[in-house]
Amino acid sequence: MGEQRVESEGHFEMLWDCEHCGQKGLLGLSQRFCAECGGPQNPVKRYFPKEGDAKKVEGHKYEGGDRHCPACEKPMGTQCKNCTYCGAPMDGSKEVRGIVAAQPKVEPKKKRWWILFLVLGIIALVILGIWYRFIRTKSAERVVTAHKWTREIAVEEFKQVRESEWRDRVPREAEGSTCYRKERSRKQEKTGEETCTTERKDKKDGTFEQVKKCTPVYRSVPVEDDWCTYNMRKWVQIDTAKASGVGINPVWPDKGLPPADTHASFGAKRQGKKTETLTLEFGADDSCDVSDSTWRKYTDNQKVKVEVRASSGDVVCSSL
Ligand SMILES: [Zn+2]
Ligand SMILES: [Zn+2]
Repeated sequence: MGEQRVESEGHFEMLWDCEHCGQKGLLGLSQRFCAECGGPQNPVKRYFPKEGDAKKVEGHKYEGGDRHCPACEKPMGTQCKNCTYCGAPMDGSKEVRGIVAAQPKVEPKKKRWWILFLVLGIIALVILGIWYRFIRTKSAERVVTAHKWTREIAVEEFKQVRESEWRDRVPREAEGSTCYRKERSRKQEKTGEETCTTERKDKKDGTFEQVKKCTPVYRSVPVEDDWCTYNMRKWVQIDTAKASGVGINPVWPDKGLPPADTHASFGAKRQGKKTETLTLEFGADDSCDVSDSTWRKYTDNQKVKVEVRASSGDVVCSSL
């Protein structure tokens, strides 16, 4: 996106009104003097014609904007060496002021600064409230009341499962694959149409250039792919063996567990992932899950200096 096509639609006559006799709509380039009274054109009072009324200057060769004669201020073409009114040399002349095309009116947004300040104030209050209620901490003393532990071993079975995946992600061992087309993603595609705006630029020599700026129009289109469903034989977790207790000697569950290492054959079972959770308790309703070294650092009934949440009194576990 962002590619813009710029196309010149050519040069057109600016218009001017005679300041001496009031004649209106004189041509900027081809009528340097009033057709009625012969009065000179004032280049700073040129204006753009109405949409659709512009007179095209065929084969216009643009050489630069008009310049004011340094002596008498009258406008001269940029190629002139001497003023045709007063004969003064055009050395040190200044280019005429350009006319800015009327832009489509955009309603100026009312500045409502107080809303911005109100919103910022509310956000600051909310942040302060969250900090005060949930983040603020203080030092305190807590007693370790218990060491708790939980150990789990996943029980897995090598079995057939039905899975679905995009065709390029289907595993090679998959069997009985059936697929259908469905939308996988979307992409932006050119419609072949364009949205265009036309700009008019005063060239300051009695003409303006009309420039068309166009950008392509895109639409979102679906990209389809094969969505496949297939059979797979793989290790699947079917159960969890769990042991838990209190004290500093945790043990792994061992009742009715399959071997840890089993050949992958249909219906075979094995032990899967092992997980351990170690918890320090501080009274009935406050506890921390901690690492093995932290868990063993403290003994039951030991008084511990910790950070606690100022609002709830809960131990900040990272301060252990
Ligand atoms: Zn006139
Ligand atoms: Zn002059």
